[in-house]
Amino acid sequence: MTTDNIMSGVVIKGSRRVAIQDYPIPVPGVGEVLLEMQASGLCGSDLRAIYRPENPKSEGAEGYRGVIAGHEPCGKIVAIGQNVSPEWKVNDRVVVYHIHGCGSCRECRAGRFISCHSETGREAYGWQRNGGHSDYILTSAADLVRLLEPLSYIDGSVIACGLGTAYAATLRAQISGLDTVLVTGMGPVGLGAALLAQKEGANVYGLEVDPARRQAAEELGIYTLDGASPKVKETIIELTGGYGPSVVIDCSGHPSARLTGLEVAREWARIVFVGEGGSVTFDVSPLVIHKSLTIYGSWVCSISQMESLVENLVKWKLFPEKVVSHVFSVHEAEKAYALFDSGKSGKVIIASEEEAKRWKESK
Ligand SMILES: [Zn+2]
Ligand SMILES: [Zn+2]
Repeated sequence: MTTDNIMSGVVIKGSRRVAIQDYPIPVPGVGEVLLEMQASGLCGSDLRAIYRPENPKSEGAEGYRGVIAGHEPCGKIVAIGQNVSPEWKVNDRVVVYHIHGCGSCRECRAGRFISCHSETGREAYGWQRNGGHSDYILTSAADLVRLLEPLSYIDGSVIACGLGTAYAATLRAQISGLDTVLVTGMGPVGLGAALLAQKEGANVYGLEVDPARRQAAEELGIYTLDGASPKVKETIIELTGGYGPSVVIDCSGHPSARLTGLEVAREWARIVFVGEGGSVTFDVSPLVIHKSLTIYGSWVCSISQMESLVENLVKWKLFPEKVVSHVFSVHEAEKAYALFDSGKSGKVIIASEEEAKRWKESK
């Protein structure tokens, strides 16, 4: 929806306000590529760090510089700047790894742009440089991951942040068919982690207090317990043959869910903290030392992990758009954020007219 080389972009203003502004369609420079946006996800971190606060932070990794929001972009290449590898061609379908790194620090060299050390070279799309809630996005070619057929653009958008994060957590715990996994918090990331852990061969259980999210997880084949039930710990122990899970992935960020995970975990279990914010208090000796637990923190994923995720989703025939409950246009961004903020939805996506139509017809 563009006229006279003008595109629309969504800016988040804090205090639950959203604005739609006009921008000139950018021209790709050296090492850059212009994408026509097809799908751009809303993320819990947008709500927590930009949408809800009265004055969003402007500094640091989650500092928001008033740019076009949306850090889960997926689209199609429409123009290519100078000095871009010939592997990228017009019409290629791509996922944007949403953090641009300096390219030369130790973390960038390992493909972990998320942890880039550079104060000036690290910029996240939708936070410090223009993101995906728009008709077009200017990207660095170094940040692109090829979207393989038959994955859809909406699948790609889910991969770009949430599912990549979930995948890295499952890799961190080295999940296999020998494991019984408990995922706490069945929002989009938790649901993704549970679906991936199943494909990696594990027996998987979910834990969630919200009935709608519990039902959505059940519909996707994840047996999910009510986190508010007073007997939930006993039930988990019983379901896992009296031993407790060998892996716990916390995607809730909630103190009581984290504690439950540590309490029900069997000896030598691996615990991965993924859900952001908040705290947890526990007795170190009985819960961690005497049970010989290993606790990991896991933040997003590396770009090579994102590439391997795309490849494995095709192999597993796992199409992550099934965690998506609502699709809106750029111009409906206000409605999209209000719904997502209410907690009464699954994953919410802003998509092109064409991609929204395909998604609706596929339901
Ligand atoms: Zn995100
Ligand atoms: Zn770097």
